[in-house]
Amino acid sequence: CAREEGPDSIRLFNRALSEAEQARQNLLADLRQAIENKSLSLVYQPQFHVPGGKISGCEVLLRWRHPQQGWISPQHFIQLAERHNLISALTAFVVRQACLDLTSYNLLGQGLPRVSVNISALEFNNPALMDALQLELDKASPLLPYLQLEITETAALTDLKASVMQLARLKQQGLRFSIDDFGTGYSSLMMLKELPIDEVKIDRAFIRDLMKQPRTIAIVEAVAAMAKGFGISVVAEGVETQEQLQCLTACGCQEAQGYLLAMPMGIEELVSFMQKQQSVTVGVSASG
Ligand code: C2E
Ligand code: MG
Ligand code: MG
Ligand code: MG
Repeated sequence: CAREEGPDSIRLFNRALSEAEQARQNLLADLRQAIENKSLSLVYQPQFHVPGGKISGCEVLLRWRHPQQGWISPQHFIQLAERHNLISALTAFVVRQACLDLTSYNLLGQGLPRVSVNISALEFNNPALMDALQLELDKASPLLPYLQLEITETAALTDLKASVMQLARLKQQGLRFSIDDFGTGYSSLMMLKELPIDEVKIDRAFIRDLMKQPRTIAIVEAVAAMAKGFGISVVAEGVETQEQLQCLTACGCQEAQGYLLAMPMGIEELVSFMQKQQSVTVGVSASG
């Protein structure tokens, strides 16, 4: 009966809790190890100008293949890193490796306009963590005009004044700024008014609902018009179908990223992708 069930279920619940806690601790130790062993890797997802189809840049995405558990979603391990003081080590790794890839594969020479790196919300609002990032940026100063930092809008909002100063300081060094997952956080017009950003990325959720929910089209049109008014770029995230791409073009969205156009890929694959892309463009202009 109920009275006997109580303590038992509590005991079971406690055991499940401590097992989950143990698993989390183990994963955390493995992540620390992975950072030390450099067994994390980067993939690059190209972004494109919608009319014309030329590559406008690419986004760097972190990957972790756990020795036993296989691929672990970045959303999962980044949250873990944020909670346990590992996030600046992760970001430092991403910036360092991306800059190394840029130079050793001569991506800029091959016409890659820019590389975007994701910065954690937590990091952006923490001066000590930003100092750690600055140390990494100092080592890469000639590359900074080709780097863009993507920040989710929730991050930029916690202290608008501090964010404006932070952005200004980094922009002086040539870096560009993008607001990631735009429309899902606390999008405030005040933030758009004050922050010296260079790009907004319309969240995948809007692109997904484009063909299902007519008012989504009005939202995307409005964001694209606003970006145009500001003289900044607007990128649609998560474009998966031709219909979405056509609709985005009609909405005035100038750039797109998504599985329809290119999957995230390793650096060597990116190099051959860009070479193929270039020969297509050259072929078109030669025949036209
Ligand atoms: P995000 O910055 O918004 O990155 C875009 C995510 O959408 C990536 O997931 C990408 O693989 C995925 N994606 C791209 N095109 C499509 C598409 O057409 N359809 C669908 N369904 N998905 C698409 P990923 O790599 O799993 O990363 C998830 C999130 O984890 C990222 O979202 C970002 O917030 C975070 N993240 C990834 N790498 C890093 C990193 O190096 N540092 C930090 N701080 N966060 C990272
Ligand atoms: Mg991003
Ligand atoms: Mg994000
Ligand atoms: Mg995003």
